Amino acid sequence: MSRPTVFVARSIPEEALSILREYLDVDMWPDEDVNPPREEIIKHIEGKVGVLTLLTDKMDAEVMDAAPNLKIISNYAVGYDNIDIKAATERDILVTNTPEVLTETVADLAFALILAAARGIVKYDAIIRRREWKGAWKPMLFLGSDVYEKTLGIIGLGRIGAAVAKRARGFNMRILYSDVVRRKELERELEVEYTSLEELLRSSDYVSVHVPLMKDTHHLIGAKELDLMRSTAFLFNTSRGPVVDEQALYKALKEGKIAGAGLDVFEVEPIPDDNPLIGLDNMVLVPHIGSASRETRINMGLLAANALVDFLVKKRAPKYMVNPEVLDRHGIKRED
Ligand code: NAD
Repeated sequence: MSRPTVFVARSIPEEALSILREYLDVDMWPDEDVNPPREEIIKHIEGKVGVLTLLTDKMDAEVMDAAPNLKIISNYAVGYDNIDIKAATERDILVTNTPEVLTETVADLAFALILAAARGIVKYDAIIRRREWKGAWKPMLFLGSDVYEKTLGIIGLGRIGAAVAKRARGFNMRILYSDVVRRKELERELEVEYTSLEELLRSSDYVSVHVPLMKDTHHLIGAKELDLMRSTAFLFNTSRGPVVDEQALYKALKEGKIAGAGLDVFEVEPIPDDNPLIGLDNMVLVPHIGSASRETRINMGLLAANALVDFLVKKRAPKYMVNPEVLDRHGIKRED
């Protein structure tokens, strides 16, 4: 009997690939270093019933229409801003993602950025490497800002935002949050205070962004929002690049309107060489490594692979679905 065929848009951990190969015929994009260009995705998904995508693979209506047999898009990420969910649902295509397994790893990175920016870890490391640490220890040299007992503002108290709040509790921080949904249970559990975005920006020493990228959150943090922040405050983004207006952020950092920033994600990735943020020393920049621990990337791969196998072969509901309403249309019951 012929097996369902899927396109895997990037090489994935061996543990995940072997699950796919056990049950499915796999066409995997061969280039380790280059993302499949749009026309290649279109070419490769023709005739496929499933596709495993990364956040850089844009799946819009036109791409979906190139694969009339497509039944499932398994996204190797929790965010799914690369996929037109409405277009997928209209075409009865199930979309799955990989939440939860990466929550703690991303929260670790968010907190690492906070500590690194506050204490100048990266710029002081660079001073040593440039052999510029001369002269004796003195009281007012190489100063940073304290993190413990300061105020942390979390924008988007979802899975990752809440995991960051847990870390902040250990630093005895006051924690504010803003969200489109009020999370009263978490308010009690984590002792976090609900505020408006404006109040959060005005009152926080550290602001960490954890919202999904959507129309509503594009440039959620722009010039107006940065203006509300304290001149001693820091901004962190480990969500998606376009949530922060980079030009406005550059201006705010350059003019000293805020003290510093830490970014894991950028409006254009990889960050272009001429992005002026690279020239600023009051920020920490890392190349979209939020979920990049070995363990977590394997776990994300296992989830993404199992979603394809569950749906296409075992005819059961995958663990995490973005548009579960399409399940019925495939005669599969949702397991509660
Ligand atoms: P989640 O859905 O659990 O949490 C998102 C929270 O944002 C929710 O509480 C939601 O109500 C809130 N929200 C939505 N719109 C908002 C708005 N306009 N203003 C304020 N709050 C709003 O998602 P999660 O698992 O915590 O992940 C959050 C995001 O982090 C993902 O969507 C993804 O884009 C990003 N992410 C980045 C990396 C990385 O490598 N840097 C890794 C994983 C996730």
